[in-house]
Amino acid sequence: MDLGISGKRALVCASSKGLGRGCAEALAAAGVSLVMNARGAEMLEAAAAEIRDRYGVDVRAVAADITSEDGRASVLEAADAVDILVTNAGGPPPGSWQDWQRENFIKALDANMLTPIALMSELMPGMIDRGWGRVVNITSQSVRAPIPQLGLSNSARTGLTGYVAGTARQVAEHGVIVNNLLPGIHATDRADQLDRDVSEAQGISIEQARRKRQEGIPARRYGTPEEFGQACAFLCSQHAGFIVGQNLLIDGGGTNLTV
Ligand code: NAP
Repeated sequence: MDLGISGKRALVCASSKGLGRGCAEALAAAGVSLVMNARGAEMLEAAAAEIRDRYGVDVRAVAADITSEDGRASVLEAADAVDILVTNAGGPPPGSWQDWQRENFIKALDANMLTPIALMSELMPGMIDRGWGRVVNITSQSVRAPIPQLGLSNSARTGLTGYVAGTARQVAEHGVIVNNLLPGIHATDRADQLDRDVSEAQGISIEQARRKRQEGIPARRYGTPEEFGQACAFLCSQHAGFIVGQNLLIDGGGTNLTV
């Protein structure tokens, strides 16, 4: 399918590996030029070079912490007037409700709610002026069904979801389309870390921890960054112009919901 976005420009945050990289790859495959970002320069430069070589699109790499004001400023300078924004950052650490103090919440809100909001605030006015834009926020299945030990993530990401629900409906008339993608478990370093944590906590092997988690997913496997990226590219495509303010679960059926 021709996504109709060849020649557009995108900023894909937190994209040297994992889900962000999957999104960057799929957009590049559709002919979109990229600004990629992550904190670690080496892996980011390597990912940018691979994508540039594979798809022949222009790729700029900006090594910066997207959750800090300075980091965002340097990313935004490179992104300038992008047509497509994919927001992403690392998730907050797990824990229990008694552990979390004000500063833990401020950090989580900054990373997973206020950072995507700041990026949208900066980049959407230009999209509105040009009459076309696409925003995809990578959130989590936890906004539909909370994961108790990820209370910091549940709190910050549902805050972002509330903001998007209203804002998407204010900007749609200008051709700017905003949606959220909600990953379930995907085979990335983050999932490996979760499996390692379970293996240590329960005294089982990492393979056993993985199999146990996969048994709880109707598709009986983890998702891949590639298929996640394809869904992102579709939401950024010309065909997605009537999909406004939605929260699309990509979780192999893992979140047990009727609607
Ligand atoms: P990942 O494989 O660990 O990749 C994270 C990427 O983000 C890396 O490129 C990392 O590079 C970059 N990054 C992290 N913090 C950053 C920051 N402050 N500024 C700029 N770049 C940053 O993680 P993932 O699995 O793709 O997860 C992406 C997001 O989806 C996370 O918020 C995660 O909580 C959420 N999620 C993931 C899953 C899953 O199963 N994978 C499920 C639900 C939700 P550097 O470290 O070099 O910065």
